[in-house]
Amino acid sequence: MEICQQILEQIKKYDTIIIHRHMRADPDALGSQVGLKELLQYNFPEKKIKVVGYDLPTLTWLATMDQVENDEFEGSLAIVCDTANTARIDDKRYLKAETIIKIDHHPNDEEYGDLVWIDTSSSSASEMIAIFAEENNLELSDNAAYLLTAGIIGDTGRFLYPSTSARTLRIASHLRAFDFDYAGLTRKMDTISYKIAKLQGYIYDHLEVDENGVARVLLSQEVLKQFNVTDAETAAIVGAPGRIDSVSLWGIFVEQTDGHYRVRLRSKIHPINEIAKEHDGGGHPLASGANSYSLEENEIIYQKLKNLLKN
Ligand code: AMP
Repeated sequence: MEICQQILEQIKKYDTIIIHRHMRADPDALGSQVGLKELLQYNFPEKKIKVVGYDLPTLTWLATMDQVENDEFEGSLAIVCDTANTARIDDKRYLKAETIIKIDHHPNDEEYGDLVWIDTSSSSASEMIAIFAEENNLELSDNAAYLLTAGIIGDTGRFLYPSTSARTLRIASHLRAFDFDYAGLTRKMDTISYKIAKLQGYIYDHLEVDENGVARVLLSQEVLKQFNVTDAETAAIVGAPGRIDSVSLWGIFVEQTDGHYRVRLRSKIHPINEIAKEHDGGGHPLASGANSYSLEENEIIYQKLKNLLKN
C-alpha cells in the first residue's frame, strides 16, 4: 500500500516523533498509539519516540504516557492514531509539530493532517498498525504485539463485532505467535470489579426497551455515587444491553459532574453515528458517542433512535 510507504518515508525523516490518540483512551487508542511507538523504537532505536495524553487510571495496566516538554514538539513529526476529529485529540500540542499524520479507522468526518490514512474496513487502529508493519517489512517486538492484540480485542469485543474480518483474524493469529502473556491479557480484559458487576445488575433492572428493541438507561451522578464508579469505569458495561436478544440498539446516558450527559450509543445492525453527529458526537456506524445538555435532549435522542427502527 503506497500510503504505508509514504508514512514510513516521513518517519525516516524525523528524529523526534510524538504519537497521540483520542481523549478518554480505550484499549485500541492505547494499543495503536503505544504499539506504534514500540514498533518504531524497535526498528529505529536512534530516534526519540514519545507518546502523549492523559493517563486514564483504568488503563494504566496496559500502557502509560511519556513526559513531553513543549520544546520537543518543535520540528517534530506528530502521528495521531484512532482519532476522527481534532477536537478529540488528546494534547493539542500536536499543532506545534512540523508534520502531522492521521491514522484512523473511523469515518473520515474531519480531514486533518499532512498525510491521512483512513481505513474504515479495519476493525481497529491497532490492526492498521500491524498492517503498516507488514507492508513495510518492519519487525514487531513482543510488547508491540501485546499492545496491538489488546487494541484489536478491545475494538472487536473479542472478535464478536461485525468489523472482525478474515484479515483481523489473520493479523491476530500472527500477533499471537509473539512471546507475551496472552491468557493474562484476555483475562484482564474480561474481568470486571464487583462494583461494576453490581452496576451491570442495575442496568439490566432499569433498562427501558421499546417494542422494536430500542433501549435506554440513565446513569445519574447519584447512581454512579451509589455504586462508587466513575464515568470512565462505565466502559466495562456499555455492551451489556446488547447481550439481550430483544435489544437491537441502545443508549447509555451517563450524567457528568458538570450536569451534561455523555451518551454512549451501540447498535447491532442499524447505523447510529448520524444521530451521534447531530448531538455533538460521532464515531463508528455501530458504536458512537454523543453529548446531551439536558434531559429534554436525552429524550430527543431516544426518540430519534426509536424512529430509526420505526422506519
Ligand atoms: P464510547 O462510547 O466512548 O466508547 O465511544 C464509542 C465510539 O464513538 C468510539 O469509537 C469513539 O471514538 C466515538 N465517540 C465517542 N464520543 C465521541 C464524540 N464526542 N465525538 C466523536 N466521536 C465519539
